[in-house]
Amino acid sequence: MKGSCHCGKVAYTADIAPTEAFLCNCSLCRRKGYLLAPVSGDAFVLERGQGETTVYRFNTHRIEHHTCTTCGCAPFSRGPGRDGKPMVMVNLRCAEDIDLATVKPIAFDGANKL
Ligand SMILES: [Zn+2]
Repeated sequence: MKGSCHCGKVAYTADIAPTEAFLCNCSLCRRKGYLLAPVSGDAFVLERGQGETTVYRFNTHRIEHHTCTTCGCAPFSRGPGRDGKPMVMVNLRCAEDIDLATVKPIAFDGANKL
């Protein structure tokens, strides 16, 4: 799948075909409206946007939440997974070729588990 921010400065490809996505209730996800799908670090390619994002960290500060400095969209977050390997959460709201009406939301209780 392909994803990008609104202005196009940030774009990625991810080797996944998500049918489900996490709808997390943590303080950041609620405000951003993230709809997240996990991708292993080696299945994610940042095609454009190195240096075009601001990085926001909170709570444990392990995860980088990337936001485009120009248009404000938040196409992905990344950090070490539970196994320590690089992991990316792509925001399906920035996906170019996925009908979100067909993606099943999975509630994730990030407010209490993060
Ligand atoms: Zn942008």
